[in-house]
Amino acid sequence: MTSAVQFEKVSKHFNNVRAVDDVDLTINDGEFFAMLGPSGSGKTTCLRLIAGFERPTSGEISVLGEPVKNVPPYRRNVNTVFQDYALFPHLSVAENVSYALKIKKIDKTIRRTETENLLDMVRLQGYGDRKPSELSGGQRQRVALARALISKPKVLLLDEPLGALDLKLREEMQEELKSLQRTLGITFVFVTHDQGEAFSMADRLAVFNEGRVAQLGTPEDIYYRPKNAFVASFVGTSNVLSKNLLNSLGIEGFAASLRPEDINIDSENGIAARLISKSFLGSATRLSLEINKERLTALVDYAQGQHLKENDEVRVSWKSSALHMMQPAP
Ligand code: ATP
Repeated sequence: MTSAVQFEKVSKHFNNVRAVDDVDLTINDGEFFAMLGPSGSGKTTCLRLIAGFERPTSGEISVLGEPVKNVPPYRRNVNTVFQDYALFPHLSVAENVSYALKIKKIDKTIRRTETENLLDMVRLQGYGDRKPSELSGGQRQRVALARALISKPKVLLLDEPLGALDLKLREEMQEELKSLQRTLGITFVFVTHDQGEAFSMADRLAVFNEGRVAQLGTPEDIYYRPKNAFVASFVGTSNVLSKNLLNSLGIEGFAASLRPEDINIDSENGIAARLISKSFLGSATRLSLEINKERLTALVDYAQGQHLKENDEVRVSWKSSALHMMQPAP
């Protein structure tokens, strides 16, 4: 299979800031790929390197199998949807969408048909004559998508495109983006700092930390088998068991992650723990536990947590397969 995008030992330094630091990465053709990480971890810089707005300090980037070192942004078969959408305010929706075709001097009738097709696809039939200021945030976002798609890119880069939307609209747009990507069959590379967003849409994702890829994998890999403490703590509420705690339990290892839902409360067997606090979450109860002076969070069924009180001594257990040994952070 051809790769849509490949990074080989790519670094991008801004003076002494290593925005991207020796990254090797392959994004498959037709994949919905997310770059996830905290602010400043290098995600946007990676996207800008793919688009050609930045040049690597070292290393090589290929798009659809071709090295792009000497290929200008407009010839890369790649297009970008920016967080602020960057629509032209004085142009109508249809003029915004068809802009790239006008620049290429494509015939007016073809321009109109293609624009209408795309407005249909993003569910904005009949909105062509409006100005961007007459649209809602979600509608503006769809215009930006249609505008980026009209030049038929093979790879669509999306830089936090849902960041400006409220929660409900974000969730709707997540589903729409995913189904649009499936319909079009092109590669989407999506940048976000929101793990829920990355997990709900991506086929695979790269978790970034300080310009490096801390882990690359499917959402399930990252959630259930985080490779190091950074990934475990960034992607959710996973417990990180320290070397000390592991050793006190007779387990060898540097650190391990354990999902809160994998901890069981046993009445007889198990490891002694003290209940620090409990929170009612509806169908589940979250317990904050202390074992050998370390805090762990457990998520148990309402019925299991119902009778427990703060300061109770409890016994906890988990299946050995629930414990994932981790490496030091890269
Ligand atoms: P965010 O989620 O906040 O957008 P990010 O993960 O996308 O963050 P980048 O924007 O790629 O991170 O930035 C990575 C690092 O590179 C940061 O420390 C940032 O300050 C620095 N950086 C990015 N662009 C430039 C630039 N043009 N000049 C100098 N430093 C830069």
